[in-house]
Amino acid sequence: MRTERLIIIGSGPAGLTAAIYAARGNLHPLVIAGREAGGQLMLTTDVDDYPGFDESIQGPDLMAKMRKQAQRFNTKFLAEDVVSVNFSQKPFAIKTETQTLLTQSVILATGASATWLGLESEQRLRGKGVSACAVCDGFFFKGKKVAVVGGGDTAMREANFLSRLCKKVTVIHRRDNLRAQDALQRLVKSKPNIDFIWNSEVIEVLGQDKVTGVKLKNTQNGQISQLQLDGLFIAIGHQPNTSFLKGQIDLDKKGYVVVADGTKTSAEGVFSAGDVSDFKYRQAVTAAGAGCKASFDVEEYLENLT
Ligand code: NAP
Repeated sequence: MRTERLIIIGSGPAGLTAAIYAARGNLHPLVIAGREAGGQLMLTTDVDDYPGFDESIQGPDLMAKMRKQAQRFNTKFLAEDVVSVNFSQKPFAIKTETQTLLTQSVILATGASATWLGLESEQRLRGKGVSACAVCDGFFFKGKKVAVVGGGDTAMREANFLSRLCKKVTVIHRRDNLRAQDALQRLVKSKPNIDFIWNSEVIEVLGQDKVTGVKLKNTQNGQISQLQLDGLFIAIGHQPNTSFLKGQIDLDKKGYVVVADGTKTSAEGVFSAGDVSDFKYRQAVTAAGAGCKASFDVEEYLENLT
């Protein structure tokens, strides 16, 4: 059975940048891209802060460019999800939905996914008015009334995007202070059809077959109120995609891959880059930078093997 030199798991900015560098370094990487290739940028509209695009670029277009660039240097792609890994043997074994692959080294770049509030009503109404992606689902709420939960950059981006489509957008935040960067706060506060409900948590999503509103609890005085809505967008952060790694490498309390000395994980020969091991910066450009570093670390590791 063939043994790959390098398998990269994940195809967001970290995975694809690692692939570009590794392919140019003649490592013939195989990228297991996942069924939802491209990562979180596939769910983003205008990317204004990725260097080199003075006119901004759409998230999916940026990912398509990175993928084409990786393909230009003969990166191989597999459109499957990884089911499990075995890092206790060498070569390492990576099991996908249809096959088991062997490899001398691995770069983990599976990123992170949206966090949910964890309400029964929220899960029941997902796809029926509850969403975590304005770019994907905003169109269905044209001319309607929606709310966004969260006070970070993601929530502001979602609210801004939705304000172009919807009649009214309400941002519901559990404190009275936004976490989002100033520029985004100013942008959102300048929109006439966006308003804020402060110090409030959604305790129930209302509706049987579709969202009709939310029940809110004031975090200061415990008062309960209701808000009529057609759609609810959850934007309260992310969780790393590491369930397939449990027991194989060290993960922290929140499930992020623990790295030392740049991109090294607790398993020698397994490296990590991007949001899967970065809960702080989480930017396309920092993920891409980490992907580059991981490919250098792999090169060094493989050189010392032979
Ligand atoms: P975030 O910065 O962690 O913000 C999450 C927000 O959700 C916070 O306001 C938090 O409230 C709130 N929240 C968390 N759990 C909640 C719960 N159970 N119920 C109600 N509210 C809850 O996450 P993010 O906005 O997804 O951003 C993540 C990272 O990506 C950040 O580093 C951000 O800078 C980056 N990002 C950048 C851009 C950009 O345009 N440059 C766009 C998107 C994301 P508290 O404030 O009270 O904690």
